[in-house]
Amino acid sequence: LGTGGGLCPPFSLNRETRMLEVRNLTKIYDDGTVAIKNVSFVVEDGEFVIIIGLSGSGKSTLLRCINRLIEPTEGEIIWNGVHVETASPEELRVIRRQIGMIFQHFNLVKRSSVMINVLSGRLGYVNPWRSVANRFSQADRRMAIQALERVSIADQAHKRADELSGGQQQRVGIARALMQQPQMILADEPVASLDPVLAHSILGHLERLNKEDGITLLCSLHYLDLVQHYASRVIGLRTGEIVYRGTREQIRRMTDEEFKEIYGAEAERVSVGMGEVL
Ligand code: ADP
Repeated sequence: LGTGGGLCPPFSLNRETRMLEVRNLTKIYDDGTVAIKNVSFVVEDGEFVIIIGLSGSGKSTLLRCINRLIEPTEGEIIWNGVHVETASPEELRVIRRQIGMIFQHFNLVKRSSVMINVLSGRLGYVNPWRSVANRFSQADRRMAIQALERVSIADQAHKRADELSGGQQQRVGIARALMQQPQMILADEPVASLDPVLAHSILGHLERLNKEDGITLLCSLHYLDLVQHYASRVIGLRTGEIVYRGTREQIRRMTDEEFKEIYGAEAERVSVGMGEVL
């Protein structure tokens, strides 16, 4: 695991606002695929940063390197001043508690109740499933109900997860992440399995968590108009490299040239329903 050779100055200025800093991150899979190539960016406390790019551009790899669900090959990931890439198991547990995650396919235990799924967030999302219902305290249960209320589905708490619609399941995924009381949420294509109306609903919930609870969001997305609507800042990835950086205002005025830089020369800007998609 490379560390970047210590060429960068020690972490000092703006420490309190530089929540996440990724420096020269590279991920090469065992088969030689270079999924992420020399990627650097900063996420400040309270931002809603969206990563866009074609399928296969490296979005998921990038998000998973940040909490080391995937081991980076080279580079540095600095979370609140702590180097994630060299963190000890104990440090990593703390980091993963502070960084929640939600997934494209929700990753719920389908045969368990909504309540149990949300409570499992207390165990941390990387732990194997190991709980029985009665190991959670009353305080945990109250917290789970509050988390479900936050996403307006407390009335579904006792249903089996697979009885819920896709949009509701993703709201359970968000409630589960809230159980960690995260400082930041990583969202890996959280609305890619949903229709555009539900996509807006889910992103609306994430926006409220960002604005009202101050949870920083780092999210990958496909739909360009959703990006324009929710992002405070945008990073465009293409074959593992950053090819675009823009503010919310800049992405609203994205030129065809910039669009093609991200999505390829053959890509057309088409509008489907409520979303401009690839
Ligand atoms: P995205 O999330 O943008 O769709 P990914 O991060 O999933 O992109 O994939 C980036 C690249 O890495 C793709 O070329 C993909 O095929 C490759 N890749 C992803 N996971 C693995 C793996 N476990 N082993 C080898 N290559 C992988």
